[in-house]
Amino acid sequence: MLDCYMSWDEEYTILMAHKLKDYAIRWIEEPLMPEFYDGYRRLKDILNPMGILVTGGEHEFTHYGFRELIEKNCVNILQPDIGRTGGITAFKKICAMASAYNIPVIPHGSGCVPYHAVISSTVSPIAEYIDVYADGGSPHFIHEPIPINGFVEVADTPGFGYELNPELSTGVKPVPIW
Ligand SMILES: [Mg+2]
Repeated sequence: MLDCYMSWDEEYTILMAHKLKDYAIRWIEEPLMPEFYDGYRRLKDILNPMGILVTGGEHEFTHYGFRELIEKNCVNILQPDIGRTGGITAFKKICAMASAYNIPVIPHGSGCVPYHAVISSTVSPIAEYIDVYADGGSPHFIHEPIPINGFVEVADTPGFGYELNPELSTGVKPVPIW
């Protein structure tokens, strides 16, 4: 899976899809700027027959952009960032729209909030995991669920189970998690 973070154009995405065709690319994520819906649709038409899915939506703000992505048949998987779209309420709206079109929703980002959202969604088969401890720094929150054999357990405590990391008040530099 290749996360391209809005940094390619149509021509370059097609070129890369051909150059990487022997590497079993499962999906190409957010290759274009988020509002370039027609470009996403054209890429999907070209890449899907090659066995490559097109995903996007991480930089949509509110659920309205997801209506565009769905109605214009732009992507195979919707990937809202729950914070950018408007929280759990907006995520539920996106999942409701997606369910009517049989489009999976795999939210951007890892941590307690997307894990709770995925567990509560009938259209979200997997969650993303970002190793917040990889750089050896101090994450913003403690009690971060860590996957074991590909699965996480979420807490039933308030605030999605998060607590602010007290080390942050001692001048320890946090590791960005978003
Ligand atoms: Mg992403």
